[in-house]
Order: sequence, then structure tokens, then C-alpha cells
Amino acid sequence: MKYIDEYRDGTLARAIATTIASEAVPGRHYQFMEFCGGHTHAVSRYGIEDLLPSNVRMVHGPGCPVCVLPVGRIDDAIALALRPGVTLCTYADLMRVPASGGGSLLKARSAGADIRMVYSTMDAIRIAEDEPGRDVVFFAIGFETTTPATAIAIRLARRKMLRNFSVFCNHVLTPPAIRAVLDVPDDDNADEHTGGVRIDGFVGPAHVSTVIGTTPYVALAKHFRKPVVVAGFEPLDMMQAILMLVRQINDGRHDVENQYIRMVSEAGNLIAQRAIAEVFELRASFEWRGLGELPDSALQLREAYADLDAERRFSITTVSTADNPACECGDVLRGRTKPAECKLFGTVCSPETPMGSCMVSPEGACAAHWAYGRFRNRVARQPVPAAT
Ligand code: SF4
Ligand code: SF4
Repeated sequence: MKYIDEYRDGTLARAIATTIASEAVPGRHYQFMEFCGGHTHAVSRYGIEDLLPSNVRMVHGPGCPVCVLPVGRIDDAIALALRPGVTLCTYADLMRVPASGGGSLLKARSAGADIRMVYSTMDAIRIAEDEPGRDVVFFAIGFETTTPATAIAIRLARRKMLRNFSVFCNHVLTPPAIRAVLDVPDDDNADEHTGGVRIDGFVGPAHVSTVIGTTPYVALAKHFRKPVVVAGFEPLDMMQAILMLVRQINDGRHDVENQYIRMVSEAGNLIAQRAIAEVFELRASFEWRGLGELPDSALQLREAYADLDAERRFSITTVSTADNPACECGDVLRGRTKPAECKLFGTVCSPETPMGSCMVSPEGACAAHWAYGRFRNRVARQPVPAAT
């Protein structure tokens, strides 16, 4: 158990909590966004908010790749899977994400579509090799963490001259999403009632940062004057990162710091970055659930790999489709609403009957809150205190 128990030591966690409480200036409010779905899960699972003083709060961010995929792209995947001769390979989390008209990949499979759950891109490659008569499409989603594996699968498919394999690419980028969360007029960013939520700093994503390093956050931290601390997923990682953020705020700094030095470097994983750059290029614009259309925020296959691009092979043109109007996933993803504040939370929306994407993936804020927080934290909607 070495390297896990050490990071879950309750005595140490309480000691860091005491330090945070003593260093957080009374009367000053600190509100930090954990960008990453893995951190959202950790905050709920380990009751991290319960360890913090009342003037230090966490808000959830848009860092779960399942949650940010818009309805239109799920609709595209369903339409693809329903084509004769097509086999759609997907990760299990996507099966129950609500599509338009109450649909989902799971329902499409019940209706006869050939949809197979895979654990890796290599599973999809194997299916394509084993079944040359099928057109096998890999439904690729995720932030920079999962993109290298898709790039490697695409290179492998090319090397093997697999003509029945293609990728429906939905890979998105972390820095533009952080920018979109912060890029609201100052007034909006100061007060929930004007449409924004005040964010004083970020707990930067863990896995993503192992690939891209800490450097890409530097310009953001500088431009928006918000500190970023990249952190691991264990409770002590989170507590230490929060303490580092409190200290930066107290010092008036907005630096990028790295709590997760055991995994993350400044430059990141150069081999993974090269694989991504070889296969993918920036997409001019991509729709995110909750954040809308964001320029240069996603990837598409380069011209050199056009024959492996499912969007071109099947002439997919995505139509933007609105979410269920009662679902507040969009606001949850921006940190404006907490899961328990959504009217559907725990009434009609639960992991068994998800009405929005945030209840599907275990990293989604609503699912994490349902699993670990619903009994402890049914808060009424409160105004966020003005910046101090
Ligand atoms: S770093 Fe990992 S856990 Fe966090 S959002 Fe990215 S993929 Fe999910
Ligand atoms: S509780 Fe359900 S409907 Fe409400 S925001 Fe969360 S996922 Fe969407």
C-alpha cells in the first residue's frame, strides 16, 4: 500500500486543515475551482470541504470529458452506429449519456445498433482486424490525457493498412476551457447573480498535466491573475494544493505551482506531445456542453490521416442541440450551480436514471455528489460573497 496510505493519512490531513484555517484571513473568502473530474470525485469522496474553514470553498469545473461532450455529438455517434455495416466502439461511460429525444447509445444498442464497449483504443483496432467486413469506428473523447492513445491507434491503423477503421474525434483541450471559465467580464466573475462565479484560483488537473506539463497554464495565470496549483488525486494532495493556493492569494501572487511533482514536470511528456502533434491539428471551433462554441479548443485529424477520419468518411455535420431545459449541467460545469441545487438532483435524476451528463460518469460533479455528498450537503442556493 506504499504511496497510497501516505497520501490518505487522516492525522496529517487534519494538521494541514488546521494550517489552512490559521492562514486563511478571517473575513476574506477564498473560492477555488477544481478543474478536473478526478479532483471533483476526490473532494466528494474524502469530504475535503468538511475539513476546510467556512471561508475556503471549492467549486466544480468542466474537467470531466464525458460531461462536456454536447448532445449533438452524442446524436452523431448514435446515427453512425445505426448505419448498416458500422460497429461503434466506445467507453462504457458514454453509453448512458442522454442524447436528444431521450435517446442514448444504450437505447440505440437495444434498437439493434452494433455498439461495443471497449477498454482501450487497441480493443477497437483488434475488432477491426478480426472483422474486416465491418466498418469499425472508435468514438474518441477526452482531454489531453487520452489523446496520445488515440494518436497511437491511428498511426498503428495506418501502418497495418486497416481500411475498415476510423476515429470519430472529440478530443478537447484543457487551457481553452480554463480560459472560457475565466473569460467573462469582471462583474460577471465577481458575483453569481450577474451570471458568473468568482474564482480565486485553480487546482490544476493531474493526468492532463502529466502530458502537457505545467507550462501551458503560465500565460493563463498571468493574464487572469489567478494562481494555479497542479495537484494529485489523493486527499493530502488536494489539501496541500489548497494551502498553496491560500498562500498565493495572501501573498498577492498568481503563479503556477506544482504540488504533483511525483508525476508532473514543467515540460510534460514530450513523446506523447509529439504523437498528438503528428496526428492531430487544432479544430477551428468546437461546442462544449456548458461553455458553448470555443475557438481552437479541440482537435481534428490532420489531412495526412483524412482516410481514418470518421467525420470525413461518413460526411458527419454536427447539428447543435439544446440540453434538456430542466437540467442544469451547463451551470454545474461552469461552477455556477452545485449539484444539489439542481431541481432534478435526487428526484428524477440519479445515476440509475441520469437526466444530464454530469450524473453519468463517476467523475461528473452530480454523480460524485450523489455517491458521497448528498446526505451531508443539501445547501440552499446562496449568493457568493463579493471579492475581498
Ligand atoms: S486529468 Fe484525468 S481525471 Fe482529470 S479531467 Fe483529465 S482525464 Fe479526467
Ligand atoms: S442533477 Fe441531473 S439534471 Fe441536474 S445538473 Fe446534475 S445531471 Fe443535470
